[in-house]
Amino acid sequence: MKTYPMTDVRGDSYLNPAWPEEARSENSITKIIVHHDAVVRQHDYDSMARYRSEAAAHYQRLGPGLQYHFKIDNIGEIFWIRPFTQATYHAGNYPVNRQSVSICLDGYFHPDVNQIPTREQYEALKQLLDWLCTQNPSFPAVQSDVFAHREVSDAYTACCGNTLIGFVQEYRNTNGNPVIPNVPFDWPEIQPSTPTPKPADVPIPPSVAPKYKVFKDGKQIGAYNEEANAWNKYIAEGGQVITANGVDVTSVLTAKYVTPAPAVPPKPVTTDPADVTNPGGQPLVEVPVVPNPIIQLILYVINWIKQLFNKKG
Ligand SMILES: [Zn+2]
Repeated sequence: MKTYPMTDVRGDSYLNPAWPEEARSENSITKIIVHHDAVVRQHDYDSMARYRSEAAAHYQRLGPGLQYHFKIDNIGEIFWIRPFTQATYHAGNYPVNRQSVSICLDGYFHPDVNQIPTREQYEALKQLLDWLCTQNPSFPAVQSDVFAHREVSDAYTACCGNTLIGFVQEYRNTNGNPVIPNVPFDWPEIQPSTPTPKPADVPIPPSVAPKYKVFKDGKQIGAYNEEANAWNKYIAEGGQVITANGVDVTSVLTAKYVTPAPAVPPKPVTTDPADVTNPGGQPLVEVPVVPNPIIQLILYVINWIKQLFNKKG
């Protein structure tokens, strides 16, 4: 969580006019009250112009100047408007006004608008509350003294809105250790850059060096991963087959692929390519005819009858 800036505008006489009737001592401060301003918060706006507009309404309804001690805009910038020694009219409860410091966040955190505080606002609110409650021994308010406006007002009010009040109460109930809601930053581009993880090493592409190259007349004429393809190139055009390691394997491949001529040439096989009945040129072998046993029996009987007649003759 970054440290949000606090801009001191207590010197602005419109937002912080003299109002001696409501002066007080710091040691009377026993509460811290959180508000929303119930004005729709844009993404990009002039914070000080917004506060002057709100102050104009406060002049009309409440009293001189802006009636909040602190404002927190969408980017978490904290504006310090009124001194602690100035009581303001913000709580709808006069004794509480006299005893409290008021913090107001820009936005409309209640139905029907239901804006949610920005991540910056949650973080800046916690930062401001921590500072007020732990770094200001001049007044007694501590973390268990932080309330939403509606919790102290005599009149009905929704302030600080349903989307913010839970955080305020959690801050109080945990003595300043609420969980910061995981909502988006309104301006993530002005957050301190988180260290970007070291990019993964660019993977080295697998080597594409071919296993075989064919050279002819000192010039490469082919590159192949398959030995047979390199051999075919060599057969077609000649030259040398060189491995990726620079070894000339022409003679090795020649020995492998060229069948050595036999000492005695085999008898040429005259094979008629059209004679598919003898495609390999192998000599035809007569298959002996096996006599049908029934025919054999008939022939035997006929023979026997002939012999019988011959004996009679
Ligand atoms: Zn309020």
